Amino acid sequence: MTKPEEELPPWLWPRAAYVHIPFCAHHCGYCDFAIAAGRDEFIERYLDALTAELTTLHESQPVQTLFLGGGTPTHLSAAQLERLLSALLRWLPLVPEGEFSIECNPDTLTTDKIAVLADYGVNRVSLGAQSFHADMLQTLDRAHDPTEIARAVERVRRRIDNVSLDLIFGVPGQTAAQWRDDLARALALKPDHLSTYGLTYEKGTPLWKRRQRGLVRALDEDAELTLYTLAIDTLEAAGFEHYEISNFAQPGRQCRHNRVYWANEAYFGFGMGAARYVLGRRELNARDLQHYIKLCLSDKSPTWQSEELPSWERARETMAVQLRRAEGIDRAAFLRQTGFDLDTVASNALAPCVEQGLLTDDGRGIRLTRRGKYVADAVIERLL
Ligand code: SF4
Repeated sequence: MTKPEEELPPWLWPRAAYVHIPFCAHHCGYCDFAIAAGRDEFIERYLDALTAELTTLHESQPVQTLFLGGGTPTHLSAAQLERLLSALLRWLPLVPEGEFSIECNPDTLTTDKIAVLADYGVNRVSLGAQSFHADMLQTLDRAHDPTEIARAVERVRRRIDNVSLDLIFGVPGQTAAQWRDDLARALALKPDHLSTYGLTYEKGTPLWKRRQRGLVRALDEDAELTLYTLAIDTLEAAGFEHYEISNFAQPGRQCRHNRVYWANEAYFGFGMGAARYVLGRRELNARDLQHYIKLCLSDKSPTWQSEELPSWERARETMAVQLRRAEGIDRAAFLRQTGFDLDTVASNALAPCVEQGLLTDDGRGIRLTRRGKYVADAVIERLL
């Protein structure tokens, strides 16, 4: 992958990179990410393969944001993390003031690992707290104990000050009181950023199978909406900006890397199952661990799927993701990025959505109203 000679806009040439580390101590019941649980004997070979994939860049590509996700990147030992980070920064050096995020689980963050992360310039930690209630964590089949969350935050903050917490709502049996308590306990840790995700039952996961067998009951839509509105009210009252449907940040602490996805801009992706979007082409790497390793170590491309969307499809996709942002879609910027007029892409669904109070339109651009956010997926579907 060689950088073109001319300076390309951020929707064509990446200023962001995602790197996937699939290893986890155990497989949580709701998870359908590309993971490798209990397969630690492959970690060193995986790092060999990942380094081989990075060398396909041919020359180092400075980036403004780096995101190490998984899996659980901090499942690696301190020495393995050091190996990973030095390879990454050789090929994807971070510009000064760049954002370098890592996803972690509370039970994996030892002092020596945090020291390695901080020494290599990681400056943002996203912690998978999910819940502060032991019974909810058990339903989600998470491995950590609620008491580990505060300890992990405290340990991280000694070296890295930008901390985000992930929380899940809509867990079977979850009450509004429990969720209110989760939010309060998260806020007590003074996070810079919070992501609140509604639980989804992905086909084939253990949780989905348990629901199929009637062993767990999903919350109904009204109950979920109650929990979502509770999150918005509580977090906004605590000074957080609700800057994306599922994401809240203190001023200046929005996740710059994820904003690249919601702008539909380009990004590199490395590792098993990783996605990338470069020069208008979407690609996905092999999702099988051994297959990915074998391909990379035999100088073959790990790309499993590749498609170049027609410009009209790219414009529709841009509209769908940009609408997730609090600032919505700016007509002039949309035209510049996609070559299409927003009103043509949204066709005649725009005006009815405004009339029904789901969108606001101030002439410059459109954005979801609060009511629109509750049914964001349906609004986006109507516009497409
Ligand atoms: S720790 Fe995260 S990535 Fe790993 S199995 Fe659990 S939810 Fe999936």
